[in-house]
Amino acid sequence: MSVLNALIAAIRSAAVEVIDLTAPLAADTPVIALPPPLRNTVPFALHEISRYDDRGPAWYWNDISTGEHTGTHFDAPVHWVTGRDREDVAQVPVTKLIAPAAVLDFTAQAAADPDFLLEIDHVRQWEDANGPLPDGGWLLYRTGWDARSGDQDLFLNASETGPHTPGISVECAGWLAREAPVIGLGVETVGTDAGAAHSFDPPFPCHSALLGAGKYGLTQLRNLAALPAQGAVVIAGPLPITGGSGSPCRVLALVDAPPGGSGAIGGPGVPPGEHRVPPGHAPPGGSGGVVPTGHAPPGGSGGVAPPGQQG
Ligand code: MN
Repeated sequence: MSVLNALIAAIRSAAVEVIDLTAPLAADTPVIALPPPLRNTVPFALHEISRYDDRGPAWYWNDISTGEHTGTHFDAPVHWVTGRDREDVAQVPVTKLIAPAAVLDFTAQAAADPDFLLEIDHVRQWEDANGPLPDGGWLLYRTGWDARSGDQDLFLNASETGPHTPGISVECAGWLAREAPVIGLGVETVGTDAGAAHSFDPPFPCHSALLGAGKYGLTQLRNLAALPAQGAVVIAGPLPITGGSGSPCRVLALVDAPPGGSGAIGGPGVPPGEHRVPPGHAPPGGSGGVVPTGHAPPGGSGGVAPPGQQG
């Protein structure tokens, strides 16, 4: 059997599961809010052209308006001034859009401190337990923040001192950019940097260092709880916007089913488009451990907000 035939067979038998890491795109999808005089992106919107009516009797279609950096999205190197001479989003090699991923879970720390910052030592300790970060892959930073992604205020978590969301320290951002083997950083928050990163020295170190080094960002991911620490494969699909700085992005993960056969947790016959919830993450009411795509389970020990119910 060819590798691709084997892959398709594995997906159909649920030996390989497909996990959707993407937030739904809707008018209430949270967007970043920069203070004046800085300009902001627009929220996502549908503009109906026709819906089986005299504007188009047999068809329904919409125009859309969106920012490049709205919802789950991809940051290209040219997004930041440090990467201004590097790739735009259409120039990212397609071979980099399918890559292995490590998932570093700091949900408990972020629940205790919304300004929690990942340090180099945290990554080193994680590597001691889980093996090295994947060469040519993603570091996916789980913080439980996806549980807030259905509500703009909870998601941005802003006070009079600005937004308070977890992120990466200046030192760790520089290390990820210059020394770690990863091609990029994926997060559950509105951007790759911490909420307070506007006042770091230098400010916005993830954007500055990673994009400046030609690496990438993925933001507003959800369902990272359904991924193993090592071994997932991420398929990221930004639109090839010519000259674009980023793009809304469908992000999927392929994961091996647990040992003992497919559906060991969720049971056999999990329908396409749904996925298992890890133990301890079952939604109230007991749906047999299965949640529909687009309805993230509560954020582990975060417990700060109900799952997003957008659109
Ligand atoms: Mn962005």
